[in-house]
Amino acid sequence: MVHQDASRCLKCKNALCQKHCPVSTDIPKIIELYLNGENLKAQKLLFDNNPFSAICSIVCDHQRQCFGNCVLNFKKVPIHFYEIEQELSIPYLKEVHFTKNKITKEKIAIVGGGPAGISCALLLSDQGYDVTIYEANDKLGGVLTYGIPDFRLSKDLVYQYARILKEKGVKIRLNCHIGHTISLAELKEDYDGIILAVGAGDAKMMHIPNETRYNVHYAIDYLKAPESFDLGKKVIVLGGGNVAMDACRMANRQGYDTYVYYRKTFEDMPANKNEVEEAINEGIKFKTFEVPIAIDDTGMVFAKGENILDENGRKKTKIIENTEHHVDCDSIIVAVSQTLHIDFPELKLNKWNFYETNQGHMTSMDKIFVCGDAYLGAKTVVSAVEDAKEVVREVINSFNG
Ligand SMILES: Cc1cc2nc3c(=O)[nH]c(=O)nc-3n(C[C@H](O)[C@H](O)[C@H](O)COP(=O)(O)OP(=O)(O)OC[C@H]3O[C@@H](n4cnc5c(N)ncnc54)[C@H](O)[C@@H]3O)c2cc1C
Repeated sequence: MVHQDASRCLKCKNALCQKHCPVSTDIPKIIELYLNGENLKAQKLLFDNNPFSAICSIVCDHQRQCFGNCVLNFKKVPIHFYEIEQELSIPYLKEVHFTKNKITKEKIAIVGGGPAGISCALLLSDQGYDVTIYEANDKLGGVLTYGIPDFRLSKDLVYQYARILKEKGVKIRLNCHIGHTISLAELKEDYDGIILAVGAGDAKMMHIPNETRYNVHYAIDYLKAPESFDLGKKVIVLGGGNVAMDACRMANRQGYDTYVYYRKTFEDMPANKNEVEEAINEGIKFKTFEVPIAIDDTGMVFAKGENILDENGRKKTKIIENTEHHVDCDSIIVAVSQTLHIDFPELKLNKWNFYETNQGHMTSMDKIFVCGDAYLGAKTVVSAVEDAKEVVREVINSFNG
C-alpha cells in the first residue's frame, strides 16, 4: 500500500512538500530511492538530515507540512509521505549502529538532553568535537520521554538515542541539573563551549482568581505522572495545542469525563490537526469561544469570546459582555503554553524572559549558546532539530574565528 502510494509521486521540481518541511527533507529524492529499492540510502539520507526523522514521522503536523502541501491535494489524493518515512526511519533508528567518532576538536558541554540537545550532540560529535550531555532527568529525550504519552509515541524509539550517542562517543551525565550543584561558571571553566538546550519546561499561568487551588493542575506536570493524580469525575482541560490534546486524551483514557474548553475556534487550535480529530473520535467533548475568567469551589467561570483582528491584523479574542457562566467540574488541567525556567540568572534576559542573544544564538556570555525551545519558545520537535543545526554552525564558526 505504502509503495503504491509512493509511486503516485509527481517528483515536482519545486516540491511544496519539501518547502513546507522545516528541515527541508528532500522528499522527491527519498521517494525515488524508496521506489528503486535503495532503502538504506534513503534511510541514511533521512537520518543525516534529521536524526529525529523517525519521531517526526509520528509527531509532526503532517497536515500543515508535507502531506497538507502535496500538490496532489488538489485531487484530494496527497501522498502520505510520513508513512513512507515511518517505514524507512523507524527500523533504521532501532537497528543502525555507529562506530566511535575520533575526537580532534574542542570540548563542548550540552545542557539538556531533549531533541535539541541530542541533535547538537550528534552533529558536533560527527565533526570531531568532544561532547558531553548533562541531563537533569534520569533519561534522555526531554518532552519525548516526560511529556508525549506512550499511546502516541513509543518510548522504545526515544531510548535508542542514548545507545546511538554512546556508540558515537558522546558522554552522558544523567540526573545532573546544571545550576543546582554545578554552576554555569564551573562548567565554563571546564569546557570551550556550552549549548543550553534546556527546553521551555515551566507551565504558563493564566493569572485568574483561585489558580492556586488544590484541584488546578498544569498539563506538563500531569503528563509526567498521570497515575499519581486523582482528578475526581469531571475534568476540564484548558487550551488548544498539542499539550492540551495529550492531556485530554490521557484523562479520557483514565476514565474521567473529559472536556476541552478553548477560547477560539477549532481552526485556530495550534495542535496537530490529526490530534484534534483523534480526541473528538475518542469522545472528548469540546467547547469553543470559552474564555476562562475565574476558578471557584465547584468549577470555573467562563465568558463567551469572539475573534477580532487587532491593528496589526492579528487574530485576538474579545470577551463578549454579560456572557459569564459557571461550569461545574472536579479538576482543571491548564495547558495554555510553556515558558523557560531560569536556571542561570547570571545570563541577561530579553523582554519575553528568555535568555538574551546576539543576532544568533549566543547569550550575553561568550561561548554560551542557547537553542531549541529555550530559544524559540515552546515549538515542535522538528523546529528544535532545525534550530540545533543552526546553533552548531554558529558554535563551529565561533571556534574558527
Ligand atoms: C505534552 C507535549 C506534547 C507535544 N507534542 C508535540 C507533537 O506532537 N509534535 C511536535 O513536534 N512537538 C510536540 N511538542 C513539543 C516538542 O516536544 C518540543 O518542542 C521539543 O521537545 C523541544 O525540544 P528541546 O530539546 O528544545 O526541549 P525539551 O524536549 O524540553 O528538552 C529539554 C531537556 O533539558 C533538560 N534540562 C532543563 N534544564 C536543565 C538543566 N538546568 N540542567 C540539565 N538538564 C536540563 C530537561 O530535563 C529536558 O530533558 C509537545 C510538547 C509537549 C510538552
